[in-house]
Amino acid sequence: MDEKYLFKKTRYEYQLISSFIDPFTGAIISPMFIETPKNDLKEIISEKWERPRWHYFTNNFYISSYICPKCYSLLFKTVFLEDYPIHTTDGIKRIPRIFTCGECFSFHAPEPGYRLADNNGYILEFDDQISYEEFLYELDKYGSTIGRRGTIDNSKY
Ligand SMILES: [Zn+2]
Repeated sequence: MDEKYLFKKTRYEYQLISSFIDPFTGAIISPMFIETPKNDLKEIISEKWERPRWHYFTNNFYISSYICPKCYSLLFKTVFLEDYPIHTTDGIKRIPRIFTCGECFSFHAPEPGYRLADNNGYILEFDDQISYEEFLYELDKYGSTIGRRGTIDNSKY
């Protein structure tokens, strides 16, 4: 654990990509946040979800079913072999998994025992890619792509 990385309580709501896909047509259902005056936003989002980008040399991060609440890219995740301690504004939390957005350099940690969609987790945001990658590769050492038993929601989410 590195105290220079301080997670704050998240101010965002997290949503699964499936919330926005029509199960019958496969089309994106217009969620509230994409009903904006910018007409092409829906296409931008659609492209992001169909061709998610991950340009980092990690071994243990894989695509998740959650959408980044900041930039609407798909979040990637890793599952820790042992709960990983993070420094938060509420003290040390030991988390079983973490989500990240490589596009806007943010990390999203569910409160232990909860899902990301419970919207009570923590967020860490970086301004630049170099600092982001430093923490990303640190986490990658302890992560895995294997689901864990005995934690809530150890499946694809
Ligand atoms: Zn993002």
